[in-house]
Amino acid sequence: MRRSFTFLLRPTTKQTAALAACLEDHRTLYNAALEHRRTAYAKASVSIRYGDQSAELKHIRSDDPDGQGRWSFSSQQATLRRLDRAFAAFFARVKAGRTPGFPRFKGRGRFDTVEWPKDGDGCRWDSQPEHTSATFVRLQGVGHVRVHQHRPVRGRVKTISVKREGDRWYVILACDDVPAEPLPATGAVVGLDMGVAALVTTSNGVHLANPRHLAATADRLADAQRDLAGGRRGSTRRHKKVARVAALHGKVRRQRSDYAHKAALALVRAYDVIVHEDLRIANMTRSASGTIDAPGRNVAQKSGLNRSILDAGWGVFLRVLAYKAESAGRELIAVNPAGTSRTCSRCGHCAKDNRLTQAEFVCTACGHAAHADVNAATNILRAGLALRQAAEAA
Ligand SMILES: [Zn+2]
Repeated sequence: MRRSFTFLLRPTTKQTAALAACLEDHRTLYNAALEHRRTAYAKASVSIRYGDQSAELKHIRSDDPDGQGRWSFSSQQATLRRLDRAFAAFFARVKAGRTPGFPRFKGRGRFDTVEWPKDGDGCRWDSQPEHTSATFVRLQGVGHVRVHQHRPVRGRVKTISVKREGDRWYVILACDDVPAEPLPATGAVVGLDMGVAALVTTSNGVHLANPRHLAATADRLADAQRDLAGGRRGSTRRHKKVARVAALHGKVRRQRSDYAHKAALALVRAYDVIVHEDLRIANMTRSASGTIDAPGRNVAQKSGLNRSILDAGWGVFLRVLAYKAESAGRELIAVNPAGTSRTCSRCGHCAKDNRLTQAEFVCTACGHAAHADVNAATNILRAGLALRQAAEAA
């Protein structure tokens, strides 16, 4: 299994300056390489490739020993490859007949990550300078940076990245061969309905609501983004606003990820089989079925932006759930959610009138009354178990 681990860095003042310089030089390199490709293409219709640019790195480094020459050759190659991927995606969209925007220059604040593609090459995870009680990561040109390692790292560290979020720095380890940790069977199964008022409702009637503090941060982010939309470009005030939006984005991401981990862990511990909506299908049908357009009363007054911030939690939750389920040896089944919110989970009668409000379900045929999301989750569970049975019979 592959997994990533993210930890807060605790750099010294000097290291913070070095990290900022490292990021800035990688951004400059990215922009210079982009400029090179653009002019070659515009003036001579020549396509510059990754290999050409990588070969030039040696000269760039030797010409600028106190600047670009300070950093890892491999991390610079990773930045050139990142540009190469942007161009590959651009040409793929051109080929598909769309009219994509040309890859863009990265402004300050639009380039926040440096990657070292191989542990031991210009970087070293868990490198011990003198302490034995603390964790450090060694980064070429920066030194041994202290890591707030709040949980153990498992598997083999493959790549190491450093990311800036506001005034915080994080190290991200991508690990291979992370061992699975199977959990004992419980004999229980569950269906999940993903909603707006509650992030997830289970077929057993448990609502896992987006936590209050996440909703509060989402509110503040929505405000900050509205505030930013009016500002003048290039002003100091605007610069501060951009930084504030970035910091709040980071906070929302961390809160959402923490919550997704807790919620997914609880489900994986309790159930052998977990059935959920196929999110790709759900997203296509959701607005048509009115869930987004007519959300529950808890969120009806919220702005569209705020709601979309909370909604984005589904993708994060399902990703976390997928790898926790795999690691624990649990079975995860995705089903087409079409009709699950209008169908009676007791008699199967499907009608729009069954659902009187966002929260209430009353079957017009058999009179079955339930919380609408619990009814939907029960249908989702049934659809998943039917798929499973069909697969076993085949
Ligand atoms: Zn019914």
